[in-house]
Amino acid sequence: MAEEKKKRLTDIGPPHYEKFLPPIIKENYGKWKYHEILKPGVMVTVSETGAKLYTVRAGSSRLLGIDKIRKYADLADKYCGGYLRFTSRHNVEFLLSEEKNIEPLINDLQALGHPIGGMGNSISSIVHTQGWIHCHSAATDASGIVKSVMDDLIEYFTDMKLPGKLRIALACCLNMCGAVHCSDIAILGIHRRPPRVSHDKLKAMCEIPSVVSACPTAAIKPSTYNDKPSVEVIEERCMFCANCYTVCPAMPLNDPLNDGVSIWVGGKVSNPPRWPEVVDAVRNLVEVWAKDAKPHERMGEWINRIGWPKFFRMTGIPFQKEHIDDFKHAGLTFKRSAHLTY
Ligand code: SF4
Ligand code: SF4
Repeated sequence: MAEEKKKRLTDIGPPHYEKFLPPIIKENYGKWKYHEILKPGVMVTVSETGAKLYTVRAGSSRLLGIDKIRKYADLADKYCGGYLRFTSRHNVEFLLSEEKNIEPLINDLQALGHPIGGMGNSISSIVHTQGWIHCHSAATDASGIVKSVMDDLIEYFTDMKLPGKLRIALACCLNMCGAVHCSDIAILGIHRRPPRVSHDKLKAMCEIPSVVSACPTAAIKPSTYNDKPSVEVIEERCMFCANCYTVCPAMPLNDPLNDGVSIWVGGKVSNPPRWPEVVDAVRNLVEVWAKDAKPHERMGEWINRIGWPKFFRMTGIPFQKEHIDDFKHAGLTFKRSAHLTY
C-alpha cells in the first residue's frame, strides 16, 4: 500500500501533509503523551519516547506579504530546521527540538515586532475575513478593525491573565466566512439597506433570471424600467445579504452612511444545550439498525432490504406527509408498482 502511494502521480490537491512534518513529529507520531505551557507563547509536548517538541507561538497578521514570509522562513531555517506552521487563527508557530533555541528565537521575533503569546488563558490572534482588500460584498474593513482591537488588547495576548481562553473573530458581512459564530466575541459587518438597482447597467451586466433566483428571500422580481427589462427589490423582504450583488454588479449594497458593524457575544462551537430529543432519535436509529442489519450491511442497504414502511414501524417514527420526497428528481426513486417491500 505504501509502495502504491509512493508511485501515485497526480497534480490534484495539495501534497500529502506528511512531507512537511518535522522529523521529531514523524518519529513520535501517535506517541505524544502530554503538553504543558511553559510560559506565555511557549509550549512543550512530550512523547512517551522522552522526545520533547517546543512550540513558540507569535502573533501574526492574516494578510502577509512575501517579505514577511521570507523573514519567517529565515527564522525557521536558523532555529528549527526550516519548520513552522500557521494556526487556524493565523498565529505563526515555530516547532523546535532544541530548547536552547527558544530564547534567541523569541528575541528575533520581538525585534521584528511580533508579540509572543496567544496560548492558554489568553486571547489568540483574531481570525478575520477578506474585507475591502478582496471581497466585493464586504460591509466593513476587516484587517483594519482587527489591528486596532488587537493593538488595544495586546496585554491579553502576551499574558495569561484571563479566567479562560478567549477567541475573537471578525467577518465583514453576514456570509460570515470568518466562522464568527464559534468565537466568544464576534465583530460582524452588516449592510442595512437593500441593493440599489442600476437599471441602465443591469441588462448589459446581469442575467435577470439568475438575479431573481439568487435572492434567498424572494425579494427580487422582474420588472421594466423605461420600457427595458430590469428588476425591482421588495424592500421589506430584503435581509441585506448581498447575494444578488454577487451575481449582479449592477446591484450594489455598499452604503457609507448605513453600513456598520454589530458585536455578538457567547459563540462557542458545541456549546450546550445537550439536544436530548435529537440524541434519543439518533440512538434509536443506531440501535434498531444494529439489531436487525446483516453483517456489513450499511444503514441505506438495510432500509432498501426491509423497505420504508417496515423502517417506520421498527423505529417507531410516525410517518408524516413531510417524509415524502418531493424533490424534482424524486420520481426516479419512487416505486412504480403498488407492491411495497416487506
Ligand atoms: Fe466577503 Fe462576506 Fe466573506 Fe467578508 S464575510 S469575505 S464580505 S463573503
Ligand atoms: Fe435578496 Fe439578499 Fe439581494 Fe436583499 S440583498 S435582495 S435579500 S439577495
